[in-house]
Amino acid sequence: MRWSIADIFNRYTHRNLQTDITNRLVEQYRPAKEAMDPFKPDFFLNEQEVQADGKLKSVNTIFLTNRECPFKCVMCDLWRHTLNEPTPKGAIPAQIEFALDHLPKADVIKLYNSGNFFDGKAIPKSDYGTIIKLVDGYEHVIVENHPKLIGDFIPGFKDQLSGTFEIAMGLESIHPEVLPKLNKQITKENFLDATRFLVKNDISVRAFILLNPPFLIDEQENIEWCLKSVDFAFESGVSACSIIPTRDGNGIMEELKKSGEYVPPTLSALEDVYNRSLKLNKGRVFCDLWDLEKFSDCEVCFQKRKERLHQMNIKQKVLPDIQCACVE
Ligand code: SF4
Ligand SMILES: [Zn+2]
Repeated sequence: MRWSIADIFNRYTHRNLQTDITNRLVEQYRPAKEAMDPFKPDFFLNEQEVQADGKLKSVNTIFLTNRECPFKCVMCDLWRHTLNEPTPKGAIPAQIEFALDHLPKADVIKLYNSGNFFDGKAIPKSDYGTIIKLVDGYEHVIVENHPKLIGDFIPGFKDQLSGTFEIAMGLESIHPEVLPKLNKQITKENFLDATRFLVKNDISVRAFILLNPPFLIDEQENIEWCLKSVDFAFESGVSACSIIPTRDGNGIMEELKKSGEYVPPTLSALEDVYNRSLKLNKGRVFCDLWDLEKFSDCEVCFQKRKERLHQMNIKQKVLPDIQCACVE
């Protein structure tokens, strides 16, 4: 008998061996990593984003090159542009300087590192002082981090910044059977506790929420659980949610697609869940538009629908649907 990946997850989850087994399984299907220069950022860009005060502001986002995240989430492909070894001291400040030399002045800076800012092997603690100086003058600084890597030292880091501080954390899904299988190694309570701690310390939080995580295949169920997850994140205290349509492209997701355990979301489902999340009126909601064409099967309306979602990201309100023969 051939076990499906989901069978293996189920089997080992019950034996509490999930972490080892899933890490190995996730890595087993990976294509090769790209060679990265530890002293060059992976990518950087300037964009406009609505901030907590409701104003549209200029945001510089730097995707830092650093040591790979130790968690091996099933749906993650961020490891492709990471290092295997701990990031050398001085490399992160050099990357930030390089990016800032090529970016315009902006109000907000995002230091995203395909993992966890407060993982000392990814961002050496000895570089914190220089990083803080480099982002001096930005009114708001955003980093990403795993809910289990939140600790007492973080408010001290925040206090040294000239601006306010925000941490983006993946909640992914609160579905009780899906979340344990993602190998994120959190419960929704871990997310709640981390968020409460940060908010109590004047650090704002945004949540990443997946639409169509693996192991949930029914379209309506996916929409409902995505909405429940957005609602849970806001009730926990986050000020913004980013909805991410789950993509393949990391090896194991292709296997899950073949076995029917991952179904990509449709563009209509993403529109539905985004409309309804905004209508909750509980805070800012963003819709991740990267590689959006993957989820469209109509060339006639795709660009218009993408532009509508982009405008909704900027305006934070539901705009009229795009009419097309492909939409029922
Ligand atoms: S915690 Fe984030 S970066 Fe790390 S494997 Fe999971 S999704 Fe990827
Ligand atoms: Zn169409």
